[in-house]
Amino acid sequence: MVALATREIVRHVASLPKQPMHATGGGRKLAKSLRESLPETGEPFETLAKLLFSKLIPRTFNTASPGYMAYIPGGGLLHAAVANLIADSVNRYVGVWIAAPGLAQLEANVVQWLCEIVGYQGPTRPGGVLTSGGSMSNLIALVTARQTKLGDRFDDGVVYVSDQAHHSVLKAARFAGFRDDQVRVVATDARFRLSASGLREAIARDLHEGNRPFLVVASAGTTNTGAIDDLDAVADVAAGNALWFHVDGAYGGFFAMTARGKRALRGLERADSVTLDPHKSLFLPYGTGALVVRDAERLRAAHAMHATYLPPMQPDVDFADFCDLGPELSRDFRGLRVWLPLKLHGAGVFRAALDEKLDLAQAACEAIRQLPGVEIVAEPELSLFAFCLSREGMDARALDKLNRALMKDINRRQRVFVTGTMARGRFVLRVCILSFRTHADRVAMLIEDVALAVARAGA
Ligand SMILES: *Cc1c(COP(=O)(O)O)cnc(C)c1O
Repeated sequence: MVALATREIVRHVASLPKQPMHATGGGRKLAKSLRESLPETGEPFETLAKLLFSKLIPRTFNTASPGYMAYIPGGGLLHAAVANLIADSVNRYVGVWIAAPGLAQLEANVVQWLCEIVGYQGPTRPGGVLTSGGSMSNLIALVTARQTKLGDRFDDGVVYVSDQAHHSVLKAARFAGFRDDQVRVVATDARFRLSASGLREAIARDLHEGNRPFLVVASAGTTNTGAIDDLDAVADVAAGNALWFHVDGAYGGFFAMTARGKRALRGLERADSVTLDPHKSLFLPYGTGALVVRDAERLRAAHAMHATYLPPMQPDVDFADFCDLGPELSRDFRGLRVWLPLKLHGAGVFRAALDEKLDLAQAACEAIRQLPGVEIVAEPELSLFAFCLSREGMDARALDKLNRALMKDINRRQRVFVTGTMARGRFVLRVCILSFRTHADRVAMLIEDVALAVARAGA
């Protein structure tokens, strides 16, 4: 079974560059044809593998392709899949330290490496927890901030986010028990960055009205246009008002491994907590997120709970019981799929790959900027930029239609896949270069396909 699966996987991955970018037409019919009741008897693995590899996997967005520049790519390193095979096969329990001290230490090492990347240093002991993704990390951060700053009564607490914050932050606020009117959405500047003066004014208003400001969430690379908030300026405001300072680095956080990224993310190390998403900018398969916090004790104080049927927990935060650091008790040994690739390759390989993405995004943006009628809406702060066609005197509706058609035309050739979003009320196209499989050859195809579509759109 493993041999057959491996053969199919190898064939699939080898053919990735040639596979189409998206093939989900007829999806409803396909989905309906698959419905069935609980099977009473089994079928051979060959049949089931064929269903997966021949029929279902091809009918998808090709998120692992080098041409996938849509949403936020990642790619899915195969080394992590091998780690998953091992972790799931031995099925050890790593949620409590005493059940697997050595394995828990590997996962704790991973968390400490992430703290290093963020730039955390004493005097408090930094720590964190691996999660299923950035949304869960943002939720854990919000609950930790709430417990630390407000305690059990928080109906007058106020959260500050920018109008470009990821919607998972708003979702997290709701899950953490806040009404929508306890979230202040602060305006952004011309580069889509949270306005520090706008933030200060909003806080002053709330204090005047007797509310309790307790948390500001900044973005280290927005999903929309890749904007990086002025983290130092936001940190100053947070410090001046005793707010918890959370940074959502789900897309951009790992660029702190590079020299340019570190400059762009200056102030990241001042955050009380940072969301990172190894399944984005560390290229791992979906299902791996992380939250790191400056003071691990805050995380534990917010989440630890006692139960008589559980084994004893460790009094020392250096020997982490992961179940005390988040909402999950039983979970996969997700540390291994971060640990194995980092140990196999070393951080340098990841740093170089991220540096390459920065170069590729710059090059793509410069080439697209030269095309007639194209406006760069957001420059690549990291590896994401946004552009659109602009036409003197054309009304907004017609312009949106033109740009939607442009996107469709670019994607029609099936060599690259880009998506769009709304920026300041306009539909714009965005390019996010983040797969470890994306190199200069594919970026050349992007430039060609955009140029062709722009030419066809006419002047
Ligand atoms: C993707 C993303 C999230 C959500 O992370 P998931 O891993 O998809 O849950 C949060 N914030 C930002 C900025 C993101 O790009």
